Amino acid sequence: MRVAVFNTKAYDRRCLTEANAAFGHDLHFLEPRLDLTTVPLARGCGAICVFVNDRVDAEVLEALATGGTRLIALRCAGFNNVDLAAADRVGLAVVRVPAYSPHAVAEFAIGLLLAIDRKIPRAWARVRENNFALDGLIGRNLHGRTVGVVGTGKIGALVARALKLGFGCEVLASDIVADPALEAIGVRYVDRRELLAEVEIVTLHCPLTPETRHLIDAAAIDRARDGLVIVNTSRGALIDTAALIEGLKARKIGAVALDVYEQEADLFFEDLSSEIVSDDLFQRLLTFPNVLVTGHQAFLTEEALEAIARTTLASIADAEAGRPLANRVDTSLIAGSR
Ligand code: NAD
Repeated sequence: MRVAVFNTKAYDRRCLTEANAAFGHDLHFLEPRLDLTTVPLARGCGAICVFVNDRVDAEVLEALATGGTRLIALRCAGFNNVDLAAADRVGLAVVRVPAYSPHAVAEFAIGLLLAIDRKIPRAWARVRENNFALDGLIGRNLHGRTVGVVGTGKIGALVARALKLGFGCEVLASDIVADPALEAIGVRYVDRRELLAEVEIVTLHCPLTPETRHLIDAAAIDRARDGLVIVNTSRGALIDTAALIEGLKARKIGAVALDVYEQEADLFFEDLSSEIVSDDLFQRLLTFPNVLVTGHQAFLTEEALEAIARTTLASIADAEAGRPLANRVDTSLIAGSR
């Protein structure tokens, strides 16, 4: 099938081209993001392939359908940027990659925790200047500390297991369904309020829903133990950024490591190093010595990219052959994951 692949970076083009050897689709790689002005680039393409930050709203979907497109293939798990009702209305099917590599994200979350807790980025910055002084670099052992895992699905379960069995932490968890396999290794489920009040470190792995939005807010920070370390590789809006900054300024929060940020759509995935960034909250976050931010890269491993490419191209082949779409987004779902 002829496919317009929007918003591609070199790594997307490489992985999709390699995986396409088994499918033979006619892939047209495009650098621009999908929006109303770039829709004409998809004219005549039966499918388009997009990412988390492409605009797939009603206007764009109508224009795509008029141009002959029948399938939207998201090369990610999240679908909150797609107007599913509009897609249904204009007869466009939406597929995604529900799970590509939970290990990629889980390992990155642990990496962020170790990096911020042991002050590795600060140490590296010093060493590069031949400053080998250790003042200000004192960390804490992970062993024996109490860590909270919010959301113990595919990623959270791996993190909980690594912390419990690998590092010897005391692990508390909160989820709407408990995982008996985690309970069997001594992970203790408690309600979220209790978890946030008890733990020394919290790592977030639940999806963004109306119920989880700003689950770390001023009240939660107030009730937390002094020196709380927060890791978020899930969704930016799980944390109220303004409250987080206040918590850092008040020295209530010990350290923060984020791979996601509430307003990341305006920043992440692009080189803005020559630009003036006008997001004052984000800029303030970057000034704290105990904050580490990465630009939504937890998923970015060779294994995950290969799995994303393979699943996406297989879904396109299924659509072309008229087979059922195993990874079709259920239009009854409203909030997805990225
Ligand atoms: P998953 O669906 O397997 O697990 C999510 C878990 O959260 C489930 O167990 C679910 O029951 C639980 N949950 C739902 N509502 C909850 C609530 N109110 N309180 C506590 N738990 C709740 O998803 P996953 O594959 O483990 O992914 C987790 C999150 O990681 C995703 O939502 C996504 O936002 C994020 N993610 C980030 C990246 C990245 O690159 N940074 C990549 C992939 C996924």
